[in-house]
Amino acid sequence: MTSEGQGRDCATCGEASCFGAFVTRTLNHSEVIYQPGELVCRAGMPALGFHVLVEGLAGIRRADPAGRSSLVALARHGEVLGTPPLEKPALQLSNVVALTRCTVCFLERDTALGILGREPLLARALWARESRRVADREQALAMAHGLAARARVAQLLLELRDEFATVRDDGSMRLELPLSRRDMGELLGMRPETVARAIRALESSDVATFTGRTVVIRDLDALFDEVELVG
Ligand SMILES: [Zn+2]
Repeated sequence: MTSEGQGRDCATCGEASCFGAFVTRTLNHSEVIYQPGELVCRAGMPALGFHVLVEGLAGIRRADPAGRSSLVALARHGEVLGTPPLEKPALQLSNVVALTRCTVCFLERDTALGILGREPLLARALWARESRRVADREQALAMAHGLAARARVAQLLLELRDEFATVRDDGSMRLELPLSRRDMGELLGMRPETVARAIRALESSDVATFTGRTVVIRDLDALFDEVELVG
Protein backbone atom coordinates (compact mmCIF):
# COMPACT_ATOMS: atom_id res chain seq x y z
CA MET A 1 0.00 0.00 0.00
CA THR A 2 1.33 3.41 -0.88
CA SER A 3 0.47 6.82 0.40
CA GLU A 4 -2.40 8.40 -1.43
CA GLY A 5 -1.86 9.32 -5.05
CA GLN A 6 1.83 8.55 -4.91
CA GLY A 7 3.44 5.79 -6.88
CA ARG A 8 6.37 3.69 -5.86
CA ASP A 9 9.70 5.34 -6.42
CA CYS A 10 13.19 4.07 -7.08
CA ALA A 11 14.46 5.01 -3.63
CA THR A 12 12.12 2.39 -2.16
CA CYS A 13 11.31 0.01 -5.03
CA GLY A 14 13.98 -2.46 -3.92
CA GLU A 15 14.26 -3.93 -7.41
CA ALA A 16 17.78 -5.18 -7.99
CA SER A 17 17.52 -4.76 -11.73
CA CYS A 18 15.95 -1.29 -11.65
CA PHE A 19 18.16 1.18 -13.50
CA GLY A 20 16.49 4.03 -11.65
CA ALA A 21 17.30 2.51 -8.26
CA PHE A 22 20.92 2.08 -9.34
CA VAL A 23 21.09 5.67 -10.55
CA THR A 24 19.60 7.15 -7.36
CA ARG A 25 21.95 5.09 -5.17
CA THR A 26 25.30 5.54 -6.71
CA LEU A 27 25.58 8.27 -9.24
CA ASN A 28 26.47 11.76 -9.80
CA HIS A 29 23.48 12.78 -11.87
CA SER A 30 21.34 15.83 -12.21
CA GLU A 31 17.80 15.60 -10.93
CA VAL A 32 14.84 17.60 -12.17
CA ILE A 33 11.29 17.75 -10.81
CA TYR A 34 8.50 18.09 -13.36
CA GLN A 35 4.98 19.16 -12.44
CA PRO A 36 1.95 17.46 -14.01
CA GLY A 37 1.58 18.55 -17.62
CA GLU A 38 5.22 19.58 -18.05
CA LEU A 39 7.14 18.22 -21.00
CA VAL A 40 10.18 16.06 -20.15
CA CYS A 41 11.21 15.26 -23.74
CA ARG A 42 10.07 17.01 -26.89
CA ALA A 43 9.70 15.12 -30.17
CA GLY A 44 12.19 16.26 -32.79
CA MET A 45 14.69 17.66 -30.30
CA PRO A 46 18.17 16.11 -30.01
CA ALA A 47 18.36 13.29 -27.45
CA LEU A 48 21.47 14.20 -25.48
CA GLY A 49 21.31 11.72 -22.66
CA PHE A 50 19.19 9.35 -20.63
CA HIS A 51 16.17 10.64 -18.73
CA VAL A 52 15.43 8.09 -16.02
CA LEU A 53 12.10 8.37 -14.22
CA VAL A 54 12.73 7.62 -10.55
CA GLU A 55 9.40 8.79 -9.13
CA GLY A 56 5.98 9.51 -10.57
CA LEU A 57 4.04 8.57 -13.68
CA ALA A 58 4.80 9.90 -17.15
CA GLY A 59 2.96 9.57 -20.45
CA ILE A 60 4.32 9.02 -23.91
CA ARG A 61 2.50 11.04 -26.52
CA ARG A 62 2.85 10.44 -30.22
CA ALA A 63 1.44 12.31 -33.17
CA ASP A 64 -0.64 10.40 -35.73
CA PRO A 65 -0.25 11.05 -39.48
CA ALA A 66 -2.81 13.85 -39.19
CA GLY A 67 -0.62 15.54 -36.58
CA ARG A 68 -2.96 14.84 -33.66
CA SER A 69 -1.02 13.95 -30.55
CA SER A 70 -2.37 11.26 -28.28
CA LEU A 71 -1.27 9.36 -25.20
CA VAL A 72 0.04 5.96 -26.29
CA ALA A 73 1.75 4.56 -23.20
CA LEU A 74 2.52 5.11 -19.54
CA ALA A 75 5.99 5.06 -17.98
CA ARG A 76 6.69 4.18 -14.36
CA HIS A 77 9.67 4.34 -12.03
CA GLY A 78 12.91 2.95 -13.39
CA GLU A 79 12.05 3.55 -17.03
CA VAL A 80 14.12 5.52 -19.48
CA LEU A 81 11.92 8.29 -20.85
CA GLY A 82 12.05 9.25 -24.48
CA THR A 83 14.62 7.99 -26.91
CA PRO A 84 17.85 6.62 -25.40
CA PRO A 85 20.60 8.10 -27.61
CA LEU A 86 22.36 4.90 -28.58
CA GLU A 87 23.29 6.38 -31.92
CA LYS A 88 24.74 9.82 -32.20
CA PRO A 89 23.08 12.10 -33.09
CA ALA A 90 19.66 10.89 -32.01
CA LEU A 91 16.35 12.70 -32.02
CA GLN A 92 13.47 12.35 -29.58
CA LEU A 93 10.73 10.37 -31.31
CA SER A 94 7.89 11.22 -28.91
CA ASN A 95 6.77 13.82 -26.48
CA VAL A 96 7.05 12.65 -22.90
CA VAL A 97 4.89 14.50 -20.41
CA ALA A 98 4.69 14.28 -16.61
CA LEU A 99 1.25 12.99 -15.55
CA THR A 100 1.95 13.31 -11.84
CA ARG A 101 4.79 15.14 -10.14
CA CYS A 102 7.83 13.37 -11.57
CA THR A 103 11.42 13.17 -10.44
CA VAL A 104 13.71 12.54 -13.39
CA CYS A 105 17.43 11.82 -13.22
CA PHE A 106 19.40 12.95 -16.22
CA LEU A 107 22.59 11.19 -17.24
CA GLU A 108 24.91 12.33 -19.99
CA ARG A 109 25.00 9.83 -22.85
CA ASP A 110 28.57 8.68 -22.18
CA THR A 111 27.96 8.28 -18.45
CA ALA A 112 24.84 6.18 -19.04
CA LEU A 113 26.46 4.03 -21.72
CA GLY A 114 29.48 3.57 -19.44
CA ILE A 115 27.31 2.23 -16.63
CA LEU A 116 25.38 -0.04 -18.94
CA GLY A 117 28.68 -1.37 -20.31
CA ARG A 118 29.95 -2.18 -16.82
CA GLU A 119 26.65 -3.56 -15.52
CA PRO A 120 25.48 -6.21 -17.98
CA LEU A 121 22.63 -7.39 -15.74
CA LEU A 122 21.29 -3.87 -15.49
CA ALA A 123 21.66 -3.36 -19.23
CA ARG A 124 19.85 -6.59 -20.03
CA ALA A 125 16.99 -5.77 -17.66
CA LEU A 126 16.72 -2.28 -19.10
CA TRP A 127 16.49 -3.42 -22.71
CA ALA A 128 14.12 -6.22 -21.82
CA ARG A 129 11.91 -3.65 -20.14
CA GLU A 130 12.07 -1.27 -23.08
CA SER A 131 11.18 -3.95 -25.60
CA ARG A 132 8.45 -5.32 -23.35
CA ARG A 133 6.92 -1.87 -23.23
CA VAL A 134 6.55 -1.86 -27.01
CA ALA A 135 5.22 -5.42 -26.99
CA ASP A 136 2.81 -4.60 -24.14
CA ARG A 137 1.44 -1.71 -26.10
CA GLU A 138 0.87 -3.86 -29.19
CA GLN A 139 -0.64 -6.62 -27.12
CA ALA A 140 -2.86 -4.17 -25.27
CA LEU A 141 -4.13 -2.70 -28.53
CA ALA A 142 -4.75 -6.13 -30.01
CA MET A 143 -6.62 -7.19 -26.89
CA ALA A 144 -8.52 -3.96 -26.76
CA HIS A 145 -10.24 -4.78 -30.04
CA GLY A 146 -11.68 -7.88 -28.47
CA LEU A 147 -12.70 -6.28 -25.19
CA ALA A 148 -15.78 -4.27 -24.41
CA ALA A 149 -15.18 -0.65 -23.44
CA ARG A 150 -16.05 -1.28 -19.80
CA ALA A 151 -13.59 -4.17 -19.63
CA ARG A 152 -10.86 -1.93 -21.05
CA VAL A 153 -11.54 0.74 -18.45
CA ALA A 154 -11.62 -1.96 -15.74
CA GLN A 155 -8.28 -3.26 -16.95
CA LEU A 156 -6.71 0.20 -16.78
CA LEU A 157 -7.95 0.60 -13.20
CA LEU A 158 -6.36 -2.73 -12.32
CA GLU A 159 -3.08 -1.66 -13.89
CA LEU A 160 -3.00 1.57 -11.91
CA ARG A 161 -4.08 0.20 -8.56
CA ASP A 162 -0.65 -0.94 -7.34
CA GLU A 163 0.67 2.56 -7.44
CA PHE A 164 -2.32 4.81 -7.00
CA ALA A 165 -4.78 3.03 -4.78
CA THR A 166 -5.20 2.93 -1.02
CA VAL A 167 -7.27 0.38 0.86
CA ARG A 168 -9.87 1.89 3.15
CA ASP A 169 -11.09 0.60 6.50
CA ASP A 170 -14.22 -0.97 5.01
CA GLY A 171 -12.09 -2.99 2.55
CA SER A 172 -12.96 -0.89 -0.45
CA MET A 173 -10.21 0.67 -2.51
CA ARG A 174 -9.78 4.30 -3.32
CA LEU A 175 -7.88 5.06 -6.49
CA GLU A 176 -6.68 8.53 -7.43
CA LEU A 177 -6.51 8.50 -11.21
CA PRO A 178 -3.39 10.17 -12.57
CA LEU A 179 -5.17 10.53 -15.93
CA SER A 180 -7.88 12.78 -17.26
CA ARG A 181 -10.87 11.23 -19.06
CA ARG A 182 -9.36 12.42 -22.30
CA ASP A 183 -6.00 10.76 -21.49
CA MET A 184 -7.85 7.56 -20.66
CA GLY A 185 -9.67 7.63 -23.98
CA GLU A 186 -6.47 8.20 -25.94
CA LEU A 187 -4.61 5.49 -24.08
CA LEU A 188 -7.42 2.99 -24.63
CA GLY A 189 -8.17 4.09 -28.17
CA MET A 190 -11.71 5.12 -27.23
CA ARG A 191 -13.75 8.25 -27.88
CA PRO A 192 -14.55 10.37 -24.78
CA GLU A 193 -18.25 9.47 -25.04
CA THR A 194 -17.32 5.79 -25.02
CA VAL A 195 -15.20 6.28 -21.89
CA ALA A 196 -18.10 8.09 -20.22
CA ARG A 197 -20.51 5.30 -21.18
CA ALA A 198 -18.13 2.62 -19.87
CA ILE A 199 -17.80 4.49 -16.58
CA ARG A 200 -21.58 4.73 -16.25
CA ALA A 201 -21.87 1.02 -16.95
CA LEU A 202 -19.34 0.18 -14.22
CA GLU A 203 -21.20 2.46 -11.83
CA SER A 204 -24.60 1.01 -12.56
CA SER A 205 -23.23 -2.51 -12.00
CA ASP A 206 -21.93 -1.31 -8.64
CA VAL A 207 -18.34 -2.21 -9.51
CA ALA A 208 -16.87 1.26 -9.01
CA THR A 209 -17.92 4.86 -8.52
CA PHE A 210 -16.18 7.77 -10.18
CA THR A 211 -16.07 11.25 -8.71
CA GLY A 212 -13.74 13.39 -10.79
CA ARG A 213 -10.44 11.55 -10.64
CA THR A 214 -11.35 9.62 -7.51
CA VAL A 215 -12.53 6.08 -8.07
CA VAL A 216 -13.91 3.95 -5.28
CA ILE A 217 -13.75 0.23 -5.99
CA ARG A 218 -16.05 -1.60 -3.66
CA ASP A 219 -15.10 -5.10 -4.63
CA LEU A 220 -11.83 -5.88 -6.38
CA ASP A 221 -13.07 -9.31 -7.47
CA ALA A 222 -15.92 -7.68 -9.37
CA LEU A 223 -13.36 -5.57 -11.22
CA PHE A 224 -11.34 -8.66 -12.13
CA ASP A 225 -14.56 -10.30 -13.33
CA GLU A 226 -15.15 -7.40 -15.71
CA VAL A 227 -11.90 -8.17 -17.49
CA GLU A 228 -12.13 -11.94 -17.34
CA LEU A 229 -15.76 -12.37 -18.38
CA VAL A 230 -15.22 -10.63 -21.66
CA GLY A 231 -11.54 -11.37 -22.25
ZN1 LIG B 1 12.68 1.61 -9.36
